[in-house]
Amino acid sequence: MAPLLLARLRAAPSTNSPKSESRFAKPNLKKSLPYLPIEILDYIVAFMLLDHPFFPTIENFSLASRQFRLIAFRQYFSLLVVRSKAHWATLCQILGVRSWARTLDAVSTALYANTSHLASFTHLHTLTIDFYAEGPRTHHTSAARLLAHAPASLTHLELRLLPSLTPPLLALAAAHCPHLRTLVLRVADRLAPDCCWNCYDDAGSAALHSPVPNEFCSAEHLAHAFGAALAPLHVLRHLELGVHLSPLPLFHAHLAHAGDFRFPPPPGAPPPFGPDACAACAPLAGPVRDAEVRAAAVLAAYLPSVEGVTWATWFAKRGREGDDVVRGTTRIRIVRDEE
Ligand SMILES: [Zn+2]
Ligand SMILES: [Zn+2]
Repeated sequence: MAPLLLARLRAAPSTNSPKSESRFAKPNLKKSLPYLPIEILDYIVAFMLLDHPFFPTIENFSLASRQFRLIAFRQYFSLLVVRSKAHWATLCQILGVRSWARTLDAVSTALYANTSHLASFTHLHTLTIDFYAEGPRTHHTSAARLLAHAPASLTHLELRLLPSLTPPLLALAAAHCPHLRTLVLRVADRLAPDCCWNCYDDAGSAALHSPVPNEFCSAEHLAHAFGAALAPLHVLRHLELGVHLSPLPLFHAHLAHAGDFRFPPPPGAPPPFGPDACAACAPLAGPVRDAEVRAAAVLAAYLPSVEGVTWATWFAKRGREGDDVVRGTTRIRIVRDEE
């Protein structure tokens, strides 16, 4: 960015050009004022908002002129974070916001009001929706309703905190967002061990984070079902499916040998932890890692453009390529014969 910025600044009209030096010419203030291209102003405003994404950051700038106000609004409303129906309804009434918005981050229930307005955000490229307020009985209907109005411009779709991941849900995303280059669908993020072992157990029961063997008899079976559902996504390059391919009994066994279910937790009791932090579970990593690679290979056969498949995993290792121990994910890079 910096070299481009400098080059463009140097190319800006100079106030010392020979044409403006005539003794007899009347001073032309408009021509002699320093000039910055609008793209540079856009960069500057975007940079100002990077660390402090609040309107007061750019309020004074927006008051300088009509053009500056337009630039300020365009940048400020390029990222929309929507947490309530009322906020969504207000945003939809702002003139210009539907063409300024590039990224929308919302909770599913906030978009229930005026859902059809979503389709008129014609320059939106990234849509992220949290489903934490949804349960297994509502999230599919909710996703169907929201995705039916997704604008055709979408290239990045992220559905977080889902109660489950099913082939019909994947097929919905593929049918309504055919130009996706990145698709992220997460269930395992519901398993944040931030309270006590009882809450951790409850969170595990409320989400189908490990669909093998109850929903799918094996990781390959799961990959075939998911791959067939996603097959219409011809330009998809990055796929994240946030479910564990380790069998569900592994998680249940971990709760049995590691959990401390006294309630309320005694003072000073350590917080819950997953199999990723458990010495007794560590030896089970091998077959799970193999299953993750095999399932990614199956998916790659359905998705001709995909470059990487990311799974939730208990067995990410620090320093291993593709593993993210903080997020608990592993990315399998797809290498094809012709490469
Ligand atoms: Zn708790
Ligand atoms: Zn364990």
